[in-house]
Amino acid sequence: MVARQLRRRGIRDSRVLAAMSRVPREAFVPAPSRHRAYDDGALPLGHGQTISQPYVVAAMCELLELRGDERVLEVGTGSGYAAAVLDELAALVVSVEVIPELAATARVALVETGHADVEVRTGDGSLGDACESFDAILVSAAAPELPALLVERLADGGRLVCPVGPPSGQRLVLVERRGDQTTTTAGLRCRFVPLRGVAGHPD
Ligand code: SAH
Repeated sequence: MVARQLRRRGIRDSRVLAAMSRVPREAFVPAPSRHRAYDDGALPLGHGQTISQPYVVAAMCELLELRGDERVLEVGTGSGYAAAVLDELAALVVSVEVIPELAATARVALVETGHADVEVRTGDGSLGDACESFDAILVSAAAPELPALLVERLADGGRLVCPVGPPSGQRLVLVERRGDQTTTTAGLRCRFVPLRGVAGHPD
């Protein structure tokens, strides 16, 4: 998977490649799809949700430029797979999931794979928490517009990656904060399940 799906497509960050080779993706995939754990695509998670394609997880993590000492927020824990990869790359990971059953399953998989330090919270992660700031924020579901409340949670020098746009035309957007200034860059085309909650799509 690392050689064929990631390196060949241009993922260069050696820490990301090493992290993705360490995290056993099959531990996060529901039993019926486990034989496809290393397929080059998204897989069903139940509850209408999907576990992201390995390449997309790698591309998002590479954009965050993590060096090991960061506090990271993930919105959309899903299976917990991306949270486990982030845990390999940063100092602290908080991951928020709106569907309680998925949060519970992800917690088990994270503990089983040695990522018990990841704090999985249940609730609407699109709100952020006014008391906390993060060096990196990864949104794992597509927002109709850039979630302003999450951009506010970025620490100075922080980076946020979020898929933005309608299902037909999403782009992976990178936001970099320097003091009060933020720079926004649209990159890779992608296809994520919709973000719910206050900053998400109406149900
Ligand atoms: N990173 C995940 C991908 C999960 S798919 C993985 O590696 O498996 C996106 C997830 O975001 C879904 O589980 C969905 O329930 C969740 N989600 C959608 N809107 C949310 C919100 N506002 N707050 C928290 N989680 C949300």
